[in-house]
Amino acid sequence: CDDLAVQNLAVLGATGSIGDSTLALVRAHRERFCVVGLSGFGQLDKLFALCQEFRPQMVAVPENKAAEFDERLQAAGLDTRVLSGSDGLDVLASAPQVDTVVAAIVGAAGLSSTLSAAKAGKKILLANKESLVMAGHLVMAAARTHGAVILPIDSEHNAIFQCLPPAVQADNKAIHRADLGVKQLWLTASGGGFLRKTYAQMAAATAEQAVNHPNWSMGKKISIDSATMMNKGLELIEACHLFDLPEHQVQIVIHPNSVVHSLVEYVDGSLLAELGTPDMRTPIAHALSFPSRMTADVKPLNLFELASLEFIKPDEQKFLSLVLARFAAKCGTGACITLNAANEVAVQAFLDGRIRLTDIAQVVGRCLIAPEVSAHFDDEFADLPSIMAMDSKVRTVASTMIDGFENASFD
Ligand code: NAD
Ligand code: MG
Repeated sequence: CDDLAVQNLAVLGATGSIGDSTLALVRAHRERFCVVGLSGFGQLDKLFALCQEFRPQMVAVPENKAAEFDERLQAAGLDTRVLSGSDGLDVLASAPQVDTVVAAIVGAAGLSSTLSAAKAGKKILLANKESLVMAGHLVMAAARTHGAVILPIDSEHNAIFQCLPPAVQADNKAIHRADLGVKQLWLTASGGGFLRKTYAQMAAATAEQAVNHPNWSMGKKISIDSATMMNKGLELIEACHLFDLPEHQVQIVIHPNSVVHSLVEYVDGSLLAELGTPDMRTPIAHALSFPSRMTADVKPLNLFELASLEFIKPDEQKFLSLVLARFAAKCGTGACITLNAANEVAVQAFLDGRIRLTDIAQVVGRCLIAPEVSAHFDDEFADLPSIMAMDSKVRTVASTMIDGFENASFD
């Protein structure tokens, strides 16, 4: 779209939950946005319908589906260019006609395209927290060098971003300025579906029960991460990179209402928070229109109906993931790659009915202390191939571990 007032979007992971929320906002503000690129991995019928609706210039699909998808588009009279595989996502994320990349692929699969968008100096709406967990140092450095702007749409990080001084919003390194007085960050966590359940109940949970989140409707992987609280662990590492702080300046507090989306604590005792109905359209709308605001059609928060706000200290014995993530954050990149990769393999094994929900943290913990893995914690990880090599090494260790223990207890 040639109109300079229009933001040209590439939505990576368009068929997912964040993709849905993003495209709902685009539909409500058609005059402000033009969808020039979409990507999807599964649900290709849904992706095809999105192509018919938005008529993007480019679409990225898995390698083995590209030819068939291309034929389908042509038969429907669409001249959308079909890109494929990880390279296709990189091309889409860095295409000159794209202003803004919505990075909403789930898991490590989103890293390469996020990094490509950063190197191409794009405005990046970052949902894919795993790319910062694995390679925050590379993504943030590339953004700085190439003038990319990273706006978090993970609700907690978006809330923190909104509560930080404008100087920090413009340059995350300004967070260290004494005159700005940022003391620490507070990430709120809903506590997931097992907050009030015992460890034994958590161990007995089916995939269907665990995917069901009390307050948010999300993709399967992040829903399981919320149930184990690994999501908050990943978010801790995400926050350290986004806001350039060490892990001890990022606290985690359980807030089952999911109304306070996170807080910034200042040296004068002030705590600034962003509140709202839990709906991802709010952080996405904020980032899409930043620094102005736009409507998001979100149910307004009724303060008169809010009886109370509850805050609870997390139980780290029950939610071992929190301890593991803090340990990884202290150790550095190699341990963070390990945490993420082992978790992705273990979550899939749980969804496949091979291990219990509580075994996920056991797999991650055992991978973190496996000598063939921890021997690499101090490697440099200066580029994408070295990070992907570590990711794949950990996946092998985690898979072998799960094969060996299948149907047995890790406890
Ligand atoms: P989802 O499972 O609903 O969607 C994931 C998207 O990624 C889909 O479009 C899928 O086709 C695509 N995808 C999956 N595997 C892929 C692969 N190997 N290669 C390329 N594309 C692939 O997930 P979601 O809930 O939308 O979450 C997306 C990301 O946003 C995750 O990193 C998640 O942690 C983060 N996030 C989500 C929410 C939420 O409310 N859903 C909130 C905060 C952060
Ligand atoms: Mg979040």
